[in-house]
Amino acid sequence: MSDCLFCKIAAGEIPADIVLETDDILAFRDIDPQAPTHVLVIPRQHFDNVSDLTRDDKDLAARVLSATAEVAQLETLERGYRVVTNVGSDGGQSVRHVHFHVLGGRGLTWPPG
Ligand code: 5GP
Ligand code: ZN
Repeated sequence: MSDCLFCKIAAGEIPADIVLETDDILAFRDIDPQAPTHVLVIPRQHFDNVSDLTRDDKDLAARVLSATAEVAQLETLERGYRVVTNVGSDGGQSVRHVHFHVLGGRGLTWPPG
């Protein structure tokens, strides 16, 4: 999608602080971090949000989830962390390209607002 911010980051057209990169996945630091570690993990392929991932995408979905664990390891979040994906306006999604937030480095409260 030519007008998608995260597609542009995935294509290298917009710079990002990259933490992890594979052929089909990218992890980069959130521009407005909500915790000492706040990394976004995305598939390079565009999906609006997690509800657009189907059984046909199961291998990619597994690799994205596995990348969140890898990010946690790279960021030494051994005390724990949170993986969050927001969907739609009620879910608080502001960028329409599926992404998983990896948040850690402090105690996180629950429930979220
Ligand atoms: P959402 O609100 O959709 O769940 O998460 C989108 C996230 O993308 C937000 O946490 C926001 O700070 C982050 N973000 C928005 N624009 C940029 C950007 O240009 N670069 C980076 N690295 N993060 C961004
Ligand atoms: Zn996109």
